[in-house]
Amino acid sequence: MAHIKLQNIEKRFGDVVAVRDFNLEIQDKEFVVFLGPSGCGKTTTLRLIAGLEQPEEGDILIDGHRVNDLSPADRDIAFVFQFYALYPHLNVYDNIAFPLKAVKVAKSEIDARVKKVAKILQITDILNRKPSVLSGGEMQRVALGRAMVRQPLAYLLDEPMANLDAKLRIDTRAEIKRLQHEIGATTIFVTHDQVEAMSLADRIAVIHQGVLQQIGTPHEVYNKPKSLFVAGFMGMPAMNLIDAAFTSQEGKTVLQLSHTDVQLDLSPQQQAHRNSNTENNGYVFGIRPEHLTVSREPVRRKIAADVHLIEPLGSVNILDLTLGTHRDTQEPILLRVRTHPTFHVEVGDKIWLDFDDDQMHLFDRKTERAIW
Ligand code: ATP
Repeated sequence: MAHIKLQNIEKRFGDVVAVRDFNLEIQDKEFVVFLGPSGCGKTTTLRLIAGLEQPEEGDILIDGHRVNDLSPADRDIAFVFQFYALYPHLNVYDNIAFPLKAVKVAKSEIDARVKKVAKILQITDILNRKPSVLSGGEMQRVALGRAMVRQPLAYLLDEPMANLDAKLRIDTRAEIKRLQHEIGATTIFVTHDQVEAMSLADRIAVIHQGVLQQIGTPHEVYNKPKSLFVAGFMGMPAMNLIDAAFTSQEGKTVLQLSHTDVQLDLSPQQQAHRNSNTENNGYVFGIRPEHLTVSREPVRRKIAADVHLIEPLGSVNILDLTLGTHRDTQEPILLRVRTHPTFHVEVGDKIWLDFDDDQMHLFDRKTERAIW
């Protein structure tokens, strides 16, 4: 299996910089997910690794060998792209068997391997059918099967489940994860679905505008976002992000959330991080909806808020709370909170909230990098 290294990769299409100074090391047997919004450069990075695109700058190394000049076939990598291509004249069995026949694997071995992946992907009863009579989801599973049946150095999967219905997607996701652990194959999986990314990845690489924003375990990326982009992209509902400024209150420095009465004391550690960030570009405060607590009575910090909107989601409710009004735009300053459905409130009610001290984030407004 393979260790993959991208060193200072840059890829341009005319004026568009699709991939910018990209550095990433993927360990042997690791499952890395490329996550980011449409157009951020996920597919291009995958195509560069596969050899379907050439970088303008930088090196791609597989197991320590520079592969920039190797053709896709010589890189021994199996890829399944969003727009899969099956051989229309071959049935499903022969489509899956094709890569093994091409390298003259014994017939009995081919048969065993095709049947094994067909079982995993639940396509055993369509092995005799031609692609023209398959549904989109079935075609996608055949394309996955054709990659899985090989034992390449690495798998590159570009939104391989885009056409599957919700249930099949969850089942196939679990199978891909199980299979990847069983085979122990280095895998890079592209998606814009953060739930898919969180559930599959050993590490997630979050990409935005061709730049690798953060690489880390799902826990790290979710709980310790290094940039404003990662903080806002991960999580449903998204992290609350509110402009903030430091101000002096009774001789000590506090963080004031703009256009609200909310002032937050700083822990010694937060104060130290603040002091080490000397740029003073302005700040953005962040807290996730699940790291706020609500109450009918004033609690520790005595932060009052009005209920603006209630979204009942069954197992949880999402409340939009108003903390104040923007002085210039007159827009409400909103905070989203996740509450238990037994916490009954009506729109317009006044409630009290508090923030979990250990789960507060702070970002530099200009550099967008995390300070806490
Ligand atoms: P999606 O999730 O929509 O597939 P992506 O993150 O995979 O998006 P890419 O397909 O890698 O994004 O595209 C990155 C950028 O490069 C986009 O701005 C895209 O328009 C541009 N791009 C990609 N391929 C080409 C090409 N062959 N010619 C010109 N521009 C391209």
